[in-house]
Amino acid sequence: MTARFGPGELSASFRSVFGTDPDGVWQAPGRVNLIGEHTDYNEGFVLPFAIDRTARVAVRLRPDSTIRLMSTFGNQGLTTADAGSLSRAAARGWTKYPLGVLWALQQRGLAVPGLDLLLASDVPRGAGLSSSHAIECAVVTAMNELAGGGLGVEDMVLVTQRAENDFVGAPTGIMDQSASLRGSSDHAVFLDCRDQSVELVPFDAEQAGLELLVIDTKVSHSHATGGYAARRVSCELGAEVLGVASLRSLSLGDLDEALGLLDEETFRRVRHVVTENDRVLQTVEALRSAGPRAIGPLLDASHGSMRDDFEISCPELDLAVEAARSAGALGARMTGGGFGGSAIALTPQGAARGVRDAVGRSFAAAGYAAPDIFSVRPAAGAMRVA
Ligand code: ADP
Ligand code: MG
Repeated sequence: MTARFGPGELSASFRSVFGTDPDGVWQAPGRVNLIGEHTDYNEGFVLPFAIDRTARVAVRLRPDSTIRLMSTFGNQGLTTADAGSLSRAAARGWTKYPLGVLWALQQRGLAVPGLDLLLASDVPRGAGLSSSHAIECAVVTAMNELAGGGLGVEDMVLVTQRAENDFVGAPTGIMDQSASLRGSSDHAVFLDCRDQSVELVPFDAEQAGLELLVIDTKVSHSHATGGYAARRVSCELGAEVLGVASLRSLSLGDLDEALGLLDEETFRRVRHVVTENDRVLQTVEALRSAGPRAIGPLLDASHGSMRDDFEISCPELDLAVEAARSAGALGARMTGGGFGGSAIALTPQGAARGVRDAVGRSFAAAGYAAPDIFSVRPAAGAMRVA
C-alpha cells in the first residue's frame, strides 16, 4: 500500500515530475459494501459507504494533446498517450483507468485536451475496495471541472461505468462509483440501482462503540474474467426464464414458483439476489430504527447466501468470517465481487484486537498468507482538495 500523500505533498511531487504546479488536486475514496452483493447489475439495492482511503490526482491541462501519466505506486515510470487517439488496445496497466475516463468523456462529446496527471492512492489494490473506481472517480471529478464537462453526479457515474465496462473491460455496475462520488462521512449510501436514487443512511459505527474491520485476504480476484461474468449470465438467464426485465422485480414470495421453473443452480443464483435485496432493505430499516449494532445477523446471513447460493466465496474468506465471529464480531461477511478480496467484520471496539489476533492465528494455522487487517470509517465522497 502506498503511504498517504497529502494534497501538498502530491503538488510538490507533481512539480518535481512535471516542472510546473498542477491546476488542482482532486480525491475520491474507495468503498466498502456493507451489504447488497451482486444486486447492482440486477437493478437492485446496495448499501456501500465511501471509506477513509482515497486516490488523489494532481492534474494540469496542457496546450497540446499530449497526455502524461504517472503514479507514485511502484516504479511505473511515465506513460504518454495522445488525447486525439485514445485506444483501449494501446492502454496498459493502471493507465487504462484514467485513460478510460478520458475516452468515455470523449464518447459523450467532451473535448478532452492534453494533460499531465500524477496519481497517489492509499486504497489497497485488488482487495475488493474498488481502488480502480477511486482512480476513475478522482479523474472524472477533476476533468469535469477542468474541461468544463458540466456533468451532474449521475452522469459522472455513467461515464466511469462506461470507462470500466468498455475501455477497461470489466462488466461492473454502478455501485462503486456511486459510493465514491456520493459518499458522506458517518453515512452509508443506500442506492437503488434501477433509477440511481440515493438516500444517505446514518452509519456511525464509532459512536455505537463499534469498529468496522476490513480483512484483506490477499487472495486476488479478477473481475474481467471468470466467475463475475458467469454470475451475471446466470442472473440474466434467470430473469429471462422468469419473464422479468431484471431480478429486482422479484420478491421473496416469487421464489416458490421460481423453484419449479429454473434449473437447480440458476435457482440458487436467483435466490441469492432476491434474498440479498431483502436483506439490504432490512439493514436500512435496522440502521434507522436501532443503529449499527442491530445489523450483525443480516451480515452473517448475507455471507451464507454468497457462500452457498451464489458460490462466490473462497476458503480464505470463509475462514476470516468464521474466526472473526468466534472472537466476538457481531456480524461478518465477504464484501465485493467475490473469489477473493476482503471480508468485513462489525466488531465491538473492545473486541477488535481479539478479532485481529484470532483471524491472524487461524490463517497461520491453515497455512494461508497473513491477511491485512485494518479498520475503516464512512468518509466523504469525491472532492477537490487543493
Ligand atoms: P479493485 O478495484 O477491487 O481494487 P481492480 O482489479 O478493479 O481491483 O483494480 C486494481 C487496479 O487498479 C490495479 O491492478 C492497478 O492497475 C490500479 N491501481 C490501483 N491503485 C493504484 C495506484 N496507486 N497506482 C497505480 N495503479 C493503481
Ligand atoms: Mg475495481
